[in-house]
Amino acid sequence: MRIAFISDIHANYEALQTVLEDIETQSIDEIVSLGDIVGYGPNPNECAAVVKERCEKSVLGNHDQAALGLLSTEYFNEIAKQATQWTINNLSEDTKAYLSSLPFTEKIEDVRLNHSSPLDPEKWTYVLTLEEAKRQFAGFDERICFIGHSHVPIVLEQGAERPSAIRYPSDEPLELFPDRRYIVNVGSVGQPRDRDPRSAYVWYDTQLQTLCLRRLDYEVQTVREKIREAGLPEFLGNRLVEGM
Ligand code: ZN
Repeated sequence: MRIAFISDIHANYEALQTVLEDIETQSIDEIVSLGDIVGYGPNPNECAAVVKERCEKSVLGNHDQAALGLLSTEYFNEIAKQATQWTINNLSEDTKAYLSSLPFTEKIEDVRLNHSSPLDPEKWTYVLTLEEAKRQFAGFDERICFIGHSHVPIVLEQGAERPSAIRYPSDEPLELFPDRRYIVNVGSVGQPRDRDPRSAYVWYDTQLQTLCLRRLDYEVQTVREKIREAGLPEFLGNRLVEGM
């Protein structure tokens, strides 16, 4: 089976459509969403409707929770606060109902799915250091956990020794070792932050034991214009062009 993992769409409909078109070409059996469907971008309801229709499994992200008014934005920066308020004001009843139904954790056989991290997923911890990765590997039983949240794609590998980080190349399948465990950050569909503005997603082939990071150009200037027209902070459109 080949599973596509999409995360951090952030209401960017053009990026989502581009990713779904690519998924059609990659012999994918199932699509999974790892959260932050909404927040920052101009099309939260359109993106939520597509995810609801196309994804077999879907977990809650911190921005989805904030859009439901269930997470304090005290620790968000000023622009994130403004964008959250805009999203709260523009969320349809259907989107609210869908986001409210999402769990923090899902599973597919020996694969775990979380937005931020497997250990205490409701705390929205970032897995940015090997020290944190070590703590997280001890916090789940499955062999592989797929996450998003940082918007930076990376593979964390746990062998017999301490964990190590692999910066996986795009469009080249990466082989996984059967006796090792993994935390895989799949990057962001709608707001990449690794200085590469191309949309990112990952597929995982359960038989071949390979991962592939896909990077795709999309209509970023259209989204930038929509952000401006919606009255969202212009910075949110500019950052998409920079990929940061
Ligand atoms: Zn996010």
